[in-house]
Amino acid sequence: MTLFDCDYAAARSVPSPNHGERAGGRSPDMIILHYTGMETAASALNWLCREESQVSCHYFVHEDGRIDQLVSENRRAWHAGRSSWKGETDINSASIGVEIANPGHPGGLPDFPVAQIEAVAELCRNCGDRWSIAPERVLAHSDVAPIRKVDPGEKFPWKWLHQQGVGHWVEPTEIRGGRFFQRGDEGQPVEALQSMLSLYGYATEITGIFNDKTEGDVAAFQRHFRQAQVDGIADMSTIDTLHRLLSALPSFSV
Ligand SMILES: [Zn+2]
Repeated sequence: MTLFDCDYAAARSVPSPNHGERAGGRSPDMIILHYTGMETAASALNWLCREESQVSCHYFVHEDGRIDQLVSENRRAWHAGRSSWKGETDINSASIGVEIANPGHPGGLPDFPVAQIEAVAELCRNCGDRWSIAPERVLAHSDVAPIRKVDPGEKFPWKWLHQQGVGHWVEPTEIRGGRFFQRGDEGQPVEALQSMLSLYGYATEITGIFNDKTEGDVAAFQRHFRQAQVDGIADMSTIDTLHRLLSALPSFSV
């Protein structure tokens, strides 16, 4: 157990033994948001602080907005597992991991209480300012580990957080009819979709074949950016939302 001073003034120190060196002394430039997916916050916190679990996070946000810090920000917490973003695969070395107490899909996906989400917003703004983290690098665990992970889930209030200055977001395009692409489809439009997902950061393989992986990446995208329907089918609303999201990036150029 390593004692440390909290990097975030509002946090209480609750040390976890599960951490290591950030590879190459890398500084964090991403924030990964999770839900705990366990019945109670107490059991989740207990698990994250036990050596045998081999998992941890930097911050743990309770339902009432209280925040515990488990791992010092300059250390590598073990929250993302096998994951990838923009070609980088050691997401733990690159990120600050935030666990948000919520029973998640196994518990029927209850709403995130307002006090809790306000605390998440404040924490992300604070970390974002101190580490100069770009808004588009505040991501869901499901973004960096599609298929394998679905947290913090399609009810997570990304739009509200964006209004509070956290994360990158555009209003999703209305769902209506028109052409769509799904598993088994092939060709140039599928390749174009895969290229856009890859350009945004997803580890999508550009093959021109809409395979299981593409479907999982589309579902992950929807879970974050087009939450009304998460089905892995690239309808016009999904594709247009992705295109506008890319266009809204400060770094985007055609
Ligand atoms: Zn997670």
